[in-house]
Amino acid sequence: MDSESHQLHMFFIPFLAPGHMIPAVDMAKMFAMRGAQTTIITTPFNASLFSNTIQRCNNSGLDIDIKVLQFPCVEVGLPEGCENLDLITTPKEANREVVVKFCKGAAMLQEPLEQLLQELKPDCIVADIFFPWAFYAADKFGIPRLVFHGTCFFSICGLECIRLYEPQKKVESDSEPFVVTNLPGDIKLTRNLLSDFIDQRAGADFTQLLIECRESELKSYGVVVNSFYELEATYADFFRNVLGRKAWHIGPVSQCNRGTAEKAERGNKASIDEQECLKWLDSKTPNSVVYVSFGSVTNFAAAQLKEIAMGLEASGQQFIWVVRKKKNKEENEDWLPEGFEKKMEGKGLIIRGWAPQMLILDHEAVGGFVTHCGWNSTLEGVTAGVPMVTWPLSAEQFFNEKFVTDVLKIGIVVGIQQSVKMLGNFVKREAIQKAVKEIMVGDRAHEMRKKAKALGEMAKMAVEKGGSSYTDLDDLIAELRLRRHSALN
Ligand code: UDP
Repeated sequence: MDSESHQLHMFFIPFLAPGHMIPAVDMAKMFAMRGAQTTIITTPFNASLFSNTIQRCNNSGLDIDIKVLQFPCVEVGLPEGCENLDLITTPKEANREVVVKFCKGAAMLQEPLEQLLQELKPDCIVADIFFPWAFYAADKFGIPRLVFHGTCFFSICGLECIRLYEPQKKVESDSEPFVVTNLPGDIKLTRNLLSDFIDQRAGADFTQLLIECRESELKSYGVVVNSFYELEATYADFFRNVLGRKAWHIGPVSQCNRGTAEKAERGNKASIDEQECLKWLDSKTPNSVVYVSFGSVTNFAAAQLKEIAMGLEASGQQFIWVVRKKKNKEENEDWLPEGFEKKMEGKGLIIRGWAPQMLILDHEAVGGFVTHCGWNSTLEGVTAGVPMVTWPLSAEQFFNEKFVTDVLKIGIVVGIQQSVKMLGNFVKREAIQKAVKEIMVGDRAHEMRKKAKALGEMAKMAVEKGGSSYTDLDDLIAELRLRRHSALN
């Protein structure tokens, strides 16, 4: 069979959290749209979250399949059936330990994965950065592994510079800013913001995991990045030319979702009827609503939620606010000021649970986004062309914040000084009110929106035929085909 007629077969093995699974499924779709056969490897619960999406893809002729492997929750100390980070209700401070448990459990999937590799003989696997074992499984069969970090070039490069040059060791205190050595742009951070990654504060197991992840990344075939060249050319070049890595930028991957139903159901069924949500937005003028969401796993304490409510009200802006907090034991919502919803009727919409985020951000009524700076949300905000209030909580979100505010200059910080692992992160209503107003009204907001809209246009063009991401994906597919061709001859 020649390389042209051979249908490329890709495996996708995402980390078990919505922020990793959603873009991985989008990526699988993008490869399938170019004629590849794609197989997503995940666990029973996670497979159920995506079954509608996959069904829809299959109905439209895309070759996407899911293979299910049993996840050993109990063996690694997770509750039975706890197959997704989203289901964890432990405080955020314990997050690192939970991630380590998930990674340990996932590593036990190496053997069943090897069986699948032997049986189905894919041409390439795209495995999450947190799954170093996937490299070793694929390597046994001579199958290349691509790494998916789930974040942008800027943050991958920034973290690598921190690891290589340790600028954090050159300051005297945890709050003293240091410049990230060699990273273009004079980017300043503090140890308090990076506690998830540096020194013993991250925990020995997590630190060891990061070492293993990096080792396996260096041995892997390359990296696929959910970003587009025009957004961060300096950092894409830095990654390739200075850090010497092979990489393909293929994003924004969310753009493979074109229809309303596709946009509305990514990773979870929305808790609000999508038509009701659209109707609410349709009744608003362009750029008059701020969308407030903190991603798929953040659960704020009641006091912080109350403060957000007061801050939003004081800002005078219309809003859609996604709150993941459940009712308390007495079936009360102790996090909402009394009478708040009634008072805000018509002006503010609260979505409890899961929002159809892409659908909301894409609506012309939305003119700003308060975000925790998870990379998917950040890039979705960029693509929608909206200025952002940055409210990072953990992990590489602090780098993403710097990227939005200092590099792209389309965001305003809410003023977080410490990673969520540390105490003292309460954000007061005045800071919320001020930041929200700054991205919604006035000259600065206008200027930022203009820039954001231009970036949004570029994002959309990048994935169209001839665009930078479209071309990079073409190149990657061609290279994998050629590899396959050489192997066959
Ligand atoms: N998301 C969504 N509805 C929600 C919350 C999140 O559709 O109510 C999606 C969002 O569009 C993004 C992903 O979930 O694609 C969250 O990923 P991100 O990297 O922003 O943050 P994480 O959840 O990993 O912290």
